[in-house]
Amino acid sequence: MNNRLIEAVRTSRFTRPFLEPYRMARNRWIHRKILNGESIPIPKSIAFEVTQRCNLNCKMCFYRQHKTEAGLKELTIKEIGFLFREKLSENGFRNCFLTGSEPFMRNDIEDIIKIITNEGMEISFQTNGTLITEERLKKIFESSNRIALIGTSCEGFEMVHNRIRGRSDAYKRAMKSLEIFKKKGISVNISVIVLDENLKDVVKLPALLVDYSVNQIDIGLVANYNDDEVRKSSLITGFDSDEIHTLVSEEIEYKNSLKEIQKTFYKTIENGENRGLKVVFSPALLNKCFEGIFNRNIREKCLLTCAGFFSVRIAPDASIIHCPFLRRSFGNLLDTSLETIWNSIEFREFRRKLLVSNMLPTCTRCGKLRELSKGIT
Ligand code: SF4
Repeated sequence: MNNRLIEAVRTSRFTRPFLEPYRMARNRWIHRKILNGESIPIPKSIAFEVTQRCNLNCKMCFYRQHKTEAGLKELTIKEIGFLFREKLSENGFRNCFLTGSEPFMRNDIEDIIKIITNEGMEISFQTNGTLITEERLKKIFESSNRIALIGTSCEGFEMVHNRIRGRSDAYKRAMKSLEIFKKKGISVNISVIVLDENLKDVVKLPALLVDYSVNQIDIGLVANYNDDEVRKSSLITGFDSDEIHTLVSEEIEYKNSLKEIQKTFYKTIENGENRGLKVVFSPALLNKCFEGIFNRNIREKCLLTCAGFFSVRIAPDASIIHCPFLRRSFGNLLDTSLETIWNSIEFREFRRKLLVSNMLPTCTRCGKLRELSKGIT
């Protein structure tokens, strides 16, 4: 069976309920292995950070505070070809999520997509939408019909969106990209981070976005932390604090009450339902434990895990890291095999520490946070 067929069967709403018990049993098996410090299978998904450059300066983005890494080496197109054709082709990867910072900062993103889809993988990507043009999309879709999902963002109406995103034409450009997606018949997912600043706008987003080709709107809380949470996370992992790239900002923390913020989330869902537009919480665990995530005491209330265990994350220089926020390199694919890196003693021990500690203080508002008992979805 080819990758596309497997993926279609795996994600179909008809087969998903039947596969669910198998998926959960497998996830429990993997978690037991992690807790025992054993090797785990290499996942079938890749998250590839093609660059750490970005043309925006968003208030809720952790990259803003970690500019030093913006100078991090980026792979050339030749090296990316080598990576995907020579180093990763044996692993049967099904999909690759392209991320950055902003993937479209790379002038050769279209060629990168071609290389990866030629290896049989489906591509998803997340973009801020400001660099999308008809020509670029045309080139991508001409060279490949394996684009599975496109994610972009909208933080509110023009004034608010521009202020949050730190650029005066960010909204116009993002809306233009939504028009282009619509014209080409491409559906997109929209991510929104709810802040005090966009509270009034967020509830109206379904009305704004229903006129575009939007699959669903994902809404989440801002993931900001303080120095103490970074220090404690550093103690648990043994990572230097500059290897923990979270947003440290008290300024952006909610002044509105939990009740007010929660009301915004539910109202946005309701407004979406009224317009036939799906609005979902990110992470889904917010549905069950909004208060625990909002108040950052979710680690005391729930047995947790992380979606990062189920995806191979490749940094712009081909280092293997666990997630966007924990930047310790466990090895570099240019000189070491994925098999060696993925189950190295250091990587296994790191995963074990995460589960034993019920994740980190700097995980509590992360969109990749999951409930362990339910497994990963
Ligand atoms: S839950 Fe924690 S370990 Fe997992 S992706 Fe988020 S910050 Fe990283």
